[in-house]
Amino acid sequence: MEQFDLYIDGAFTPGAARFESRDPSTGTPWALIAEARAAEVDAAVAAAKRAFRSGPWPAMTATARGKLLHRLADLVQAAAPELARIETRDTGKIIRETSAQIAYVADYYRYYAGLADKIEGAHLPIDKPDMEVWLRREPIGVVAAIVPWNSQLFLSAVKLGPALAAGCTVVLKASEDGPAPLLAFARLVHEAGFPPGVVNVITGFAPDCGAVLTAHPDIDHIAFTGGPETARHVLRSSAENLASTSLELGGKSPFIIFADADLDSAVNAQIAGIFAATGQSCVAGSRLLVQDSIREKVLATLADRAARIVSGPPGDSATEIGPLCTERQRAQLHGIVTASVAAGARLICGGVLPEGPGSYYPPTILDCTETPDAPCLRQELFGPVLSVTGFTDEADAIRIANDTAYGLASGVFTRDLTRAHRMIRAIRAGIVWVNTYRAVSPIAPFGGHGLSGHGREGGLAAALDFTTVKTVWLRTSDDPIPDPFVMR
Ligand code: NAD
Repeated sequence: MEQFDLYIDGAFTPGAARFESRDPSTGTPWALIAEARAAEVDAAVAAAKRAFRSGPWPAMTATARGKLLHRLADLVQAAAPELARIETRDTGKIIRETSAQIAYVADYYRYYAGLADKIEGAHLPIDKPDMEVWLRREPIGVVAAIVPWNSQLFLSAVKLGPALAAGCTVVLKASEDGPAPLLAFARLVHEAGFPPGVVNVITGFAPDCGAVLTAHPDIDHIAFTGGPETARHVLRSSAENLASTSLELGGKSPFIIFADADLDSAVNAQIAGIFAATGQSCVAGSRLLVQDSIREKVLATLADRAARIVSGPPGDSATEIGPLCTERQRAQLHGIVTASVAAGARLICGGVLPEGPGSYYPPTILDCTETPDAPCLRQELFGPVLSVTGFTDEADAIRIANDTAYGLASGVFTRDLTRAHRMIRAIRAGIVWVNTYRAVSPIAPFGGHGLSGHGREGGLAAALDFTTVKTVWLRTSDDPIPDPFVMR
């Protein structure tokens, strides 16, 4: 079995114990993972705090930090095939997707490498003649970056990139499910030459690792991606030390097709929106809203296309849909599909547990037009299950689209330009894609409202979120300070 170690204070360590990681396509263990418990979490946070306060990192210029990030980007790009192999093996995410995504992850590091020396302060035209006042943008401190198992190289790049560009130090915690790719990534951090303690990479289970990290008094900021329930735990434990947080949580994103849309494009985008990454995507377009006049036609086309999706081993380049990451997740998903059918949802395709090894689940479509309270319409399923609702007109589409506690992403397919603009304004979500879906870029902010969290990743604003403003007052007069009892 392959072995993966923790990375703490510039050294690789086997941790408190080792646990097995399973290949989701076969259910058999393939790797031994080092586990961090309280002592390792403490060591990682202490190393990050030391590296933040003393040593070469705080003395480094922003340009030098940018060069290190450029080096990391080059290493990620060169290692992309190997990282993709490991991520595919450990999480079941198909090789087509991991290969393309990790190559693009390098661009995220490049974007933040270029940004490092462009995080500027400001000079204020202050209302007093004998004062110079300016603002320094300083790094916020020690960051806990916590990611789930899906797309974790990508999800850590959108935290590490801006945090390091801003001058922070980081304890990056991989999920206990599929942690191998991030522990492999730590080898590249080491090779890039970051000073010890600037980046620490650990993994472990919630009570002994995640909860200890978020409650740690020396953590200044928590950048979290995961589910809303875990986010509540994170907020409760970070309340003790009042760390700031950014939360990137799940979604139940509406994908809206009007009758005037280019149906071929809309159907293709919807197939990608729900079945790519085997539906394990926070921005999955998991609620299809389709205008009543074309509903049956769209359902038939989707079912036909879904039937032709190639399901198979995730490492095979022909595979389009692989296994879910864990058996636990498959059981939960199937339970909700079964309950929704029992509640009256019409099963268009899929919905049957396949026989054989691996946590596979077929592309599944449920028409919930007559069952607006079906559980599949309300809960994030994180799997290849599309819930469909018909709508009559624009107002009806807006009402249904916003009838959710989430607010991450949305898609609108229409050829009517003025309607597109009205929909953009009316939809309550952090992202609106018009006549496209699931496009991302390091240049564009990403995040949501409500149960989808708060804060944004990507773009310049994300780097500013890892800074704090220091206001500097400098008196330019040599005259004695007048009346000490009057505030100036
Ligand atoms: P999860 O919330 O169970 O776990 C996320 C991370 O939190 C893991 O590293 C886990 O070990 C850690 N964790 C668990 N309990 C903790 C605790 N008490 N304290 C601190 N850390 C703890 O999520 P998951 O099931 O691994 O991932 C799926 C979820 O992530 C979905 O809801 C999905 O939508 C969301 N997600 C959101 C985005 C986004 O950018 N908005 C991207 C990907 C995934």
